[in-house]
Amino acid sequence: IKPPLYIITPTYKRPEQLAELTRLGYTLKHVSNLLWLVIEDSKTPSELVTKRLHHIAVPFIHLVAPMPEQYRKSKAMPRGVSNRNRGLEWLRANATEGVFYFADDDNTYDISIFEQMRYTKKVSMWPVGLVTRLGVSSPIVRNGQLDGFYDGWIGGRKYPVDMAGFAVSVKFLLERPNAKMPYKAGYEEDGFLKSLSPLNKTEIELLASSCTEVLTWHTQTKKNPVAAKLNVTKYSGTNLL
Ligand code: UDP
Ligand code: MN
Repeated sequence: IKPPLYIITPTYKRPEQLAELTRLGYTLKHVSNLLWLVIEDSKTPSELVTKRLHHIAVPFIHLVAPMPEQYRKSKAMPRGVSNRNRGLEWLRANATEGVFYFADDDNTYDISIFEQMRYTKKVSMWPVGLVTRLGVSSPIVRNGQLDGFYDGWIGGRKYPVDMAGFAVSVKFLLERPNAKMPYKAGYEEDGFLKSLSPLNKTEIELLASSCTEVLTWHTQTKKNPVAAKLNVTKYSGTNLL
C-alpha cells in the first residue's frame, strides 16, 4: 500500500470557485490513497462547495479558516495562509505518515508529480511553470545536487520557490511542532520552509527528472467581469435555481 498523500487546497468564494474546484478535483481523482483537504477562507462552509465536493467524490475533508481581518485590509494580502495553517493543524491532529502538498485551487498539475512526491522523506522540490516574467521557477541542479534557485523574484529569500513546487513528509512536519506559514505576502513559502529547520539543502529531494521537467503550473484564471459584478458563486454552479 502506498503512503497517503494529503493535498491542502485553500479556496475562497468568487464566481470561478466551483469551476476551479471541479477542474482540480477531477485531476486528483486520478490519484490513489489521497485525501483532499479543502479549506475555505470563510467563517462558514459554503453549501455549494460541499455539494461540489460530494459530486466530484474524491475523498475529502472540508474545513474553514477565515483570513484574520487585519490582513484582509492590508495592501498585499497573504492569500490562503489561514487555510494552509488550518490544514497543517488538521494533519498534526490526524495524520501520522505520508506526504502533504499545498495545491492552490487555480493551478495545473500533471498527475505524475503526485506519485513522485508521495515518497518524499523530508522535503522535495521541482520546477513550476508560468511563474513571474522568467516563466519558470525552479531549483538549480548541478551534478545532481541542489545549487541555488532560479526565480524571477529572489527577494532575499532563502527558498525562492513557488507554493506549487514542493512537498513535505508528514513525519518531518510532526517533528517540528512550531512549523507554520507566516502571514507575509511573498514570503509564505520561504517562511514555511524556514520554519521546518533543521533542513539541510543536501536533504532536499529533486523531482521531475532532476528538475528538468515542468509538471506543475502556476496558472491564473481570468476573472469574468460580469459574474464578478454579481459577486454570487451561484452563477458558476451547475444548478442555477
Ligand atoms: N485564496 C484564499 N483567500 C483569498 C485569496 C486567495 O483562500 O482571499 C486562495 C486561493 O483560492 C488559492 C490561494 O489562496 O488557492 C492563492 O490565491 P491566488 O490564486 O489568488 O494567488 P496567486 O496565484 O495570484 O498568487
Ligand atoms: Mn493562483
